[in-house]
Amino acid sequence: MTLAQLLKQFISRHWQQYVAAAAMLFSVAVLTVLIPRRVGSVIDGMVRHQLDQQGMLKELAILLLMGVAIYFLRVGWRMQLFTASYQLGVELRTRLYQRLSVQGQDFFQKQRTGDLMALGTNDADAIELAAGEAALAGFDGSLTFALVIGMMLLGVDWRLAIAALLPFPFMAWAFKKITHHVHEASRLSLERFSKLNDQVQETLAGVRTLRALGLEQQSAAQFAELAENASDASLSAQRWEAAYEPAVGITLTSAGALTLGVGGYLVWHNEMTIGALTSFSMYLGQLIWPMFAAGWVLSLMERGKAAWARLEPVLNMEVSVQDNGVLRDPPTGDILFRKVSYLYAGQAHTALAEIDLRLEPGKTLGIVGPTGSGKSTIIRLLLRQIETRQGDILWGQHPLADYSLHSLRSAINWVPQEPFLFSASIAENIALANPAASREQIMHAATLAAIHDDIMRFPQGYDTPVGERGVTLSGGQRQRVAIARALLTDSPLLLLDDALSAVDTDTETRILQHLHHLQHQQTRRCAIIVSHRLSAVAETDHILVLRDGKITEQGKHQELVEAGHWYATQWRYQQLEASLDAA
Ligand code: ADP
Repeated sequence: MTLAQLLKQFISRHWQQYVAAAAMLFSVAVLTVLIPRRVGSVIDGMVRHQLDQQGMLKELAILLLMGVAIYFLRVGWRMQLFTASYQLGVELRTRLYQRLSVQGQDFFQKQRTGDLMALGTNDADAIELAAGEAALAGFDGSLTFALVIGMMLLGVDWRLAIAALLPFPFMAWAFKKITHHVHEASRLSLERFSKLNDQVQETLAGVRTLRALGLEQQSAAQFAELAENASDASLSAQRWEAAYEPAVGITLTSAGALTLGVGGYLVWHNEMTIGALTSFSMYLGQLIWPMFAAGWVLSLMERGKAAWARLEPVLNMEVSVQDNGVLRDPPTGDILFRKVSYLYAGQAHTALAEIDLRLEPGKTLGIVGPTGSGKSTIIRLLLRQIETRQGDILWGQHPLADYSLHSLRSAINWVPQEPFLFSASIAENIALANPAASREQIMHAATLAAIHDDIMRFPQGYDTPVGERGVTLSGGQRQRVAIARALLTDSPLLLLDDALSAVDTDTETRILQHLHHLQHQQTRRCAIIVSHRLSAVAETDHILVLRDGKITEQGKHQELVEAGHWYATQWRYQQLEASLDAA
């Protein structure tokens, strides 16, 4: 879809506002062209001594009224039009937000956050301006132009009008040339602003690392260069936009000179009155606005086009995980992987190769293995953050894709290794998925997650704000808040993806004991515990050992220790490490 089609669609949906604005604009234009004619006849009346004092006062009163009416009508159309165009900004931003909220992990891997933020701000603004200011100036300018030219040709003198219009083709040629440059410069300016945004976002996210590595100055220099580039591009766009003005100036000056020459000749030969020549000159003056409007419209439209060319592909980018499932009830029953393989885009080695697993309700599965062995990929597939392409994943005998994403995800409590806390109080963060939870329930979940005592030590207890503008929690505290969050809702599947990695072994043991206790109480709930620490899975019903995406060992803890392979070696090593730590 082109920008013109987008605007057409939008305008046809909001036609009432545009028609009201156009009617008011039309009235302004008519009143504006009537004024010179009236002034011309007043001058002629004065020259010919046909206008007495009373007549003169009446004419002045009419002119004043016309001026006041123009003022109010101008305010009116602005209100109508800008209310509509701001609506387009809201619609575009909402569409972008909705799209982003359903996109999968691979989308965010390809797109940069700063870029996406720029699309929702700078680019959406540019398109909004095309629907507001540009539509207005385009309509108003062409209307005034048509009326003024009409009055010049038919109302004053067609010979003079043709002479005065001779320089206009030059202007059209100059506008075409300038418009091409404005488009390129606008595109570059929007792109460079995006890059600047990316840099700011990345620097803020990684400010601690930059400081720790002493890279502040290097980062500041990089930022200065990007800021300079963005400012250069924006300046270049404005320079090209400013080039419309001299083209208008040259055209109108030449038209003025021609008017004076030809008009003077006609007046000299009594083929035209001085009043008519005055009206004509005033009309010529009235062409300044439509000419500037044309330049303004062209530059706004080019900016809008450049912005739409960046925004449209993101709005239309296919969602990698489609939500076409028809089953709306939460899944229950066995979870089954049948020969599931997965290869990430751009990778040479499969992350998972022919994985078979079964998890029955009420059971707990442990998954261990070295970093990069595919543990998290299993979790991502279950959450449908990524889509199975080879093999089947069934839950309660239905493929995962048969469930709506909402019903699937609301059946899973997922605790990632690096949980995100929102800028809200601790209590609100724990109750994120269950805002109706009582304070007692929240405190109970926090106690099970072994974070209650820590929270009570914070200045405002459970009401302490966390996140960007609040208390900074340690990695282990964040993980425990996320576990409390998961325990507050009663979903059939609990996924802990190395969710205790930053917690000390004693606290980990306490939390796991609470979890086992809960598992016994809720016989339908199953859990998958992914961990690099074997102590976290020692009590589970079944353990899978992954290496290079393949299951190399499986069984119960004791069986694996006795088998004497990777698991047994790691277990001995980790036991030794724990005893050294304790000593
Ligand atoms: P683990 O959780 O065991 O550390 P992962 O499941 O995260 O391992 O990763 C398995 C393999 O897939 C690794 O080789 C990793 O480099 C690769 N991988 C993981 N995520 C991505 C991704 N988003 N894009 C490309 N490759 C990935």
